[in-house]
Amino acid sequence: MVDDPHQSQAPRDPLPPSDRQDERDLMVEEQMAAPTDRRAPVVEARVLQAMRHVARHRFVPADVAEQAYDDSPLAIGGGQTISQPYMVAKMTELLELEPGDKVLEIGTGSGYQAAILVALGARLFSIERDPTLARDAQRRLAELGCAGPDLHLVCGDGYRGLPEEAPFDAIVVTAGTPQVPRPLIAQLADGGRLVFPIGEEELQTLVRIRKEGERLREEYFGDCRFVKLVGRYGWER
Ligand code: SAH
Repeated sequence: MVDDPHQSQAPRDPLPPSDRQDERDLMVEEQMAAPTDRRAPVVEARVLQAMRHVARHRFVPADVAEQAYDDSPLAIGGGQTISQPYMVAKMTELLELEPGDKVLEIGTGSGYQAAILVALGARLFSIERDPTLARDAQRRLAELGCAGPDLHLVCGDGYRGLPEEAPFDAIVVTAGTPQVPRPLIAQLADGGRLVFPIGEEELQTLVRIRKEGERLREEYFGDCRFVKLVGRYGWER
């Protein structure tokens, strides 16, 4: 393949593909494309491609880097976790993104899901309330070449969304909430999708709410376990 100088500058190319590529290919095959348990496969080819591409091991602390492609969430400090790879892929698929879609993520955490969304061509706004995590994610995403005009990281309480940037084509909440985050629904574009975990502290259900004119269509996608969304509409601090 001929080297394209624009390509090498592109914000969508976080790492040379050789870097633990075999492990990522296996992760996608066994955990997402063809899981052997009862999980619904992730079928959207562009999502699987992004999951093969982004180097998850660069988003976790050194002491757990070895387990970066395991089928589980991992601790990233501050009592928070990087979500299980399957959950990142499934939530991303449920967002039904088209390149150029304006997307809001609540809970930047490690920045891994943000990197996946940017790899899919999203114009992403991502909010994290923990200043240390927000700063680390910003540095990491810049180092990996994800920083650019399509990525905006905000440190603050995500419960109110980002009204000044609304409407969004898609919104993803990567922390569990006990109730529907109303302000986020108000910030969906017509046809927009909101994906979030709702339920008890220990167990939630993955939900997608789609705005269709005046109507809201809800769909449920099974059990999941996320850390708590903190603050209003979330759990008490
Ligand atoms: N998407 C992340 C996983 C995040 S875990 C990743 O790919 O690594 C959930 C994150 O939500 C945590 O970092 C937590 O600090 C953050 N969070 C919890 N409540 C929040 C709130 N009200 N606003 C913004 N971020 C919040």
